[in-house]
Amino acid sequence: MYKIHEIKGHIQSIYIFEYKDKILLADCATKADMLKIEHYIVNKIGRKMGDIKLAMVSHMHPDHAGLASAFQKKYNIPIVSHPNVNDWYRGSFGKLQHFIDVLLAWYVSIKMKNPPKLMWYPSKLKPNYVLEDGAPLPYFNDWQIIYTPGHTSHDISLYHKQSKTIYLGDVILKLKNKYLLPMPITLPGLMKKTLNKLSEIEIENLLLAHGGRVTIEQNKSFFYNLIEQVGEKKKGIFKFINLISLFSPCIRKLENID
Ligand SMILES: [Zn+2]
Ligand SMILES: [Zn+2]
Repeated sequence: MYKIHEIKGHIQSIYIFEYKDKILLADCATKADMLKIEHYIVNKIGRKMGDIKLAMVSHMHPDHAGLASAFQKKYNIPIVSHPNVNDWYRGSFGKLQHFIDVLLAWYVSIKMKNPPKLMWYPSKLKPNYVLEDGAPLPYFNDWQIIYTPGHTSHDISLYHKQSKTIYLGDVILKLKNKYLLPMPITLPGLMKKTLNKLSEIEIENLLLAHGGRVTIEQNKSFFYNLIEQVGEKKKGIFKFINLISLFSPCIRKLENID
């Protein structure tokens, strides 16, 4: 089996799944997190960065894809993502969305009273593996990809059946002891489908990028109850964030099938 480590990153948690002979990294953090991750792997658990055999990008936001290309260049770590990742920031509207998303990440870090750090990162990803829903991970075939869109068009989660554990990226957040859906929900119809799908999977342990590790008892009702939040009207800053998160060109493409 494996051991789970949670690193508190700049604005999100990073999860390390440590095996005797290899390490799997759940999400590629912000651009500001490299030293933290290197320090943890080398000094805290006494492993090498080269032990990381695979890193996943749950979606293209700055706190999840920030270090992907740096990991590839510096350590040759292969990256796995959903096939559609590069639709998200495509074209001039996509570039605008990328710029806005980096600004939003800065806003979150200021709100969290973190020292300001550079978070600019490439808007395109060159994944070594692209995997569809249900596919097992290369090198780690005890884990499988679950396609969980709604927050973006291309969110993926990592599911470990044997331990009933799932890394959910930004699909669900836990803030001030409350479970919330992400900000923004760009594709509400797909978000509902995702929550329905998760309610059918045997899950006990949730690993959240924003909210840490959680154990749930009734997974059917847990995910089902969250569906009510999908249509809720947002106010103030949350309404504003939703409005400035709708530039990605593939939202228009997907809303028809939503
Ligand atoms: Zn996100
Ligand atoms: Zn996030």
